[in-house]
Amino acid sequence: MARRKIIAGNWKMNKTPTEAKALVEMLAPLVKSDEVDVVYCVPAIDIVPVVEAVKGTNVEIGAENISDKDSGAFTGEISGAMIKDAGCKYVIIGHSERRDYYKEDDAFLNRKVHKAFQYDLIPILCCGESLEQREAGVTLDWIRLQLKSDLIGITAEQAATMVIAYEPIWAIGTGKVATTEQAQEVCHAIRELIAEIYDADTAEKIRIQYGGSVSASSAPELFAQPDIDGGLVGGASLKADFGKIVNYK
Ligand code: PEP
Repeated sequence: MARRKIIAGNWKMNKTPTEAKALVEMLAPLVKSDEVDVVYCVPAIDIVPVVEAVKGTNVEIGAENISDKDSGAFTGEISGAMIKDAGCKYVIIGHSERRDYYKEDDAFLNRKVHKAFQYDLIPILCCGESLEQREAGVTLDWIRLQLKSDLIGITAEQAATMVIAYEPIWAIGTGKVATTEQAQEVCHAIRELIAEIYDADTAEKIRIQYGGSVSASSAPELFAQPDIDGGLVGGASLKADFGKIVNYK
């Protein structure tokens, strides 16, 4: 069975609740699709108004972060229960900005992946190498290490429902897209790793996105690759271009 493509926007720290509603309305006619899953991952404060604004459409909502705790004295955090109750289906975990700026390590991210499943949320788990790592030839070793650590204790049944986003750090927000060959090579290696950790069936089911300066012009070739099941899109998800990315064919 062919995997259904999933195209997710990562709004990062952009859009007030008022602006978020306006963006959803602007995008509504452009992102209609029967063929792909469309997701907006939005700032915590935008979740409630955006869930309301997409009601009755094909768009699902995700959070950009989740606490590794259930509740309690963790000022500023947002729990899986809150995200789920607010209407999210997905949650981004391990974006390179959080790994880098907020020092989220793999043991911490592994706890977050477990929390997502505890609250019936689908993790969009990010991984990716720096420019130095690519130039040193350790890209695949690094990504194997990240994913093997992040997935400790996650069952095959859970993994089969997950989304993994391969995002080379040097391509995020830089306008520098990985070549189609580079993106396919790593996404293929990730699928092989999933087969190694779990089994061929899980590897066949898991969805693997490419992320890093995806645009309306680069999306068609990237998404045509056998192991690329869609994209995680930052900058372009805040513009009308996102509609062209969703309807890339
Ligand atoms: C991202 O934030 O996940 C991302 C890929 O950003 P951009 O598309 O802007 O490079």
